[in-house]
Amino acid sequence: MILEFEVLPDEDGWPMLDLYSDLRATMARLHAAPTLQSFFDFAVAQIRRFTGFERVMAYKFQEDGSGHVIAESIADGFQSYLGLHYPASDIPAPARRLFALSWLRHLPNADYEPIPLVPELSPHTGAPVDLSYASLRSVSVMYTGYLKNMGVKASMVMPLMKNGALWGLLACNHESAPRHVPFEIRMASEFLAHMISLTMSSKEDAESSDYRSHMKEVLERLMRALHGNPDIHAALCASPDANIRHYIDAGGAALITEGQITKFGETPSDEQLRELAIWLAGRDELVVANDRLAEHLPDAAPYVEIAAGVLAVRLSKRRPDFVMWFRPEQAHTVQWAGDPAKPVHIDESDGSVRLSPRMSFAIWKESVKGRSKPWITCEIEAAADLRWGIVDVILARAEETELVNRKLREVNRELDSFAYVASHDLKEPLRGINHLATFVQRKQGDPDQHIETILKLTRRMDDLIESLLQYSRTGRVDLMLEDVDLGALVDEALQMLTKRVAESGVVIRRSVKLPIVKADRVRLREVLVNLISNAIKYNDKGERWIEIGIEREKPVTLYVRDNGIGVDQKNHAKIFKIFRRLHGRDEFGGGTGAGLTIARKTIERHGGRIWLTSTPGAGSTFFFTLQEEERPPS
Ligand code: ADP
Repeated sequence: MILEFEVLPDEDGWPMLDLYSDLRATMARLHAAPTLQSFFDFAVAQIRRFTGFERVMAYKFQEDGSGHVIAESIADGFQSYLGLHYPASDIPAPARRLFALSWLRHLPNADYEPIPLVPELSPHTGAPVDLSYASLRSVSVMYTGYLKNMGVKASMVMPLMKNGALWGLLACNHESAPRHVPFEIRMASEFLAHMISLTMSSKEDAESSDYRSHMKEVLERLMRALHGNPDIHAALCASPDANIRHYIDAGGAALITEGQITKFGETPSDEQLRELAIWLAGRDELVVANDRLAEHLPDAAPYVEIAAGVLAVRLSKRRPDFVMWFRPEQAHTVQWAGDPAKPVHIDESDGSVRLSPRMSFAIWKESVKGRSKPWITCEIEAAADLRWGIVDVILARAEETELVNRKLREVNRELDSFAYVASHDLKEPLRGINHLATFVQRKQGDPDQHIETILKLTRRMDDLIESLLQYSRTGRVDLMLEDVDLGALVDEALQMLTKRVAESGVVIRRSVKLPIVKADRVRLREVLVNLISNAIKYNDKGERWIEIGIEREKPVTLYVRDNGIGVDQKNHAKIFKIFRRLHGRDEFGGGTGAGLTIARKTIERHGGRIWLTSTPGAGSTFFFTLQEEERPPS
């Protein structure tokens, strides 16, 4: 058992407090504080009121052991230390451990004479007596030295604990004289420090959860914008209150894709951003969180004041495309209003030299040179979330683009062969005209005969060009869809072909009832005229017949069947290509070879398909639909 005795305070020097009601009121106000800052401002003011110290400060530790003054209450005429940062060496790890061990450490007089314990070793155990929890335990000379340097004559320190770890300190200093705080007031202060720790923890968690839900909300809005806007810069940067800058707390942000840059706030120049992107792209990580960029990338040194730290997410495997956030050098942003002219202070009473807090600040500044405030876990996670969202959208879009590209390649190939065939076929009559005209010029042969042939060739060219124009019109002009009675349409087509039907003596058989379909009347009639006239033309039988009917109801599949010459399987694809004929120019009544090409285009524009089955020598059947089939036949 260790008994400690202390001097009873002089009652007059202490405020008479109704401790219970005082503490209750203080607690209520602490709970009601709207922000962590206002909470601490009030807490330090209350502790100063209870204890009568000249200076009460709340410190917060960083992960590296350094810390800064987040709140302060001082007596009139004292210089403020608010905002002061100091290096980890000011309160070294063993001291921090001791502070965490007991709820209050009080040193009434920094100038005290330590008195040795007698006996030094416990007579029972033979080991040194453990005085960890004793109030009168002597403190380290480092600590008293530090206090003396700072001009502090008495101190009282209470730890601020969060989740069992030291979060910060409440430090009370007296500078004008030693100060012994009576037991009751120490107990009340200790109790208050307990309550402050608990309330502070939940307040701080609430603030960070506010931040997290802010990020979540902005992320949702960014994702909506991305889905609705194919331009990623517009989607991520256009909205004034939901953009990348808004998303994560930073001094500036930038989006770089395919060399295009959009910037917000304080960022390096375009040129520097491009170099940074290339450097980042050379690393493996998809998310880079760096709070000391210049240590890794010397080129970043010139802009530490703007971007000492960078949080970057990579958007593309091949290109240096990134979203980046920047934080300035921390020391650069912290301006402590301490007296800059006096790094040391000469004590007038004894002439000793004292380090001022200014010194600590300078050391701290040096220790965090080139570093930004670190990126915290929830920010790094939020950056990664945004990356996933963007990459998802980009991937989906790339797939769409690939599909369009494939179609485009097909169309290009078609166009190539089309241009080749078309120019080849147009050149043929032109060459003939050229030759014949030369003959006429040289007066070779019969000029009347030549001119006759030239005229025939120009008519052929005219036909070819007309077919080409018709084909191109088929691709360009909008369809005029309406309900079309197929029966009536077949009648019209046959009417237009009356003369040929009569001349060929072909027998037409057809279904009594044909359905009504949605189609462009005039175009569809062209298709029917082409199919029926081909069925009449390409027939060498004595008794010719054509059958028109419905093969299937869903989707409506019309067919035109003949007992003509048929088409060899290997030519089925060929006959749908422009100007492709399987016969000599004048055989089977001639033709340009564009009819089936135009028919196919018309059918495909309706969403349907045209094909044929045929037995060479026995006949062919041409089928077409006007809409997509549910299951395309193989
Ligand atoms: P054109 O009739 O002007 O030659 P098409 O594009 O209508 O042009 O037909 C292309 C080719 O397909 C024809 O030249 C012919 O060789 C073949 N063809 C078309 N319809 C039939 C059919 N019903 N029977 C046999 N061959 C056909």
